[in-house]
Amino acid sequence: MTGSRKNLIILGAPGAGKGTQAKRLAGDFSWVHLSTGDMLREAIDKGTPLGVRVESYVKAGDLVPDDLIIELVGERLQQPDCGSGFLLDGFPRTVRQARKLDELLPGLGIHLDAVLYIRVPDDLIVERLSRRFTCSECGQMVIGSAGISECPECGGGLMRRPDDEPDTIIHRLGVYRENTRPLIDLYEAKRLLFEIDGTGSAETVYDRIVSALDPDSKGE
Ligand code: ADP
Ligand code: ZN
Repeated sequence: MTGSRKNLIILGAPGAGKGTQAKRLAGDFSWVHLSTGDMLREAIDKGTPLGVRVESYVKAGDLVPDDLIIELVGERLQQPDCGSGFLLDGFPRTVRQARKLDELLPGLGIHLDAVLYIRVPDDLIVERLSRRFTCSECGQMVIGSAGISECPECGGGLMRRPDDEPDTIIHRLGVYRENTRPLIDLYEAKRLLFEIDGTGSAETVYDRIVSALDPDSKGE
């Protein structure tokens, strides 16, 4: 599976499963998983100058100012490991960020191969986010259900992300609809969009993505 270098964006509402799918794809294909949410949370946890500036936005479920994010992503994309392919998860999130990315890529000699849009109905999103926990040990995302009190991967304790509280979830969905959903049309017009049905198990969704990226992989 390795050796097929691709530069991808993974798009979808909060709770669509972007992070889970992106992590697995990055592992299986040796691409860099570039999650702006993870980068910001790490900066906040470490108390870096960036972390201090962005903390209140992230906690409230608001977007961090475009310029900060663009600088962060621009710097990351210049690091050599991105040369073997990357998955942008959580960026771009506004039309302005998408335009800036368009301006940035040619100068870095990077060509965008595809935008994966993980489509999940709204009611399922709210349901998933309100049951979403993160492992305090390994960072794995876990969808809670009766009987699950620890991480299935490592047995670590489960915690809720501060921005997954119910009021903040509703707010983030509104922010997504207003700012990020327009990107679907934008990438559709550029003929880069691959729409993936995001319902069902993580395994099922993963198989759909892999088939969409490489239609020959299953001999279909
Ligand atoms: P989710 O996709 O589950 O909403 P993320 O981990 O992608 O969560 O993002 C968490 C938060 O980080 C966002 O609510 C926002 O505050 C901030 N953030 C992440 N990426 C961006 C971005 N590209 N532009 C602005 N803010 C961002
Ligand atoms: Zn764990």
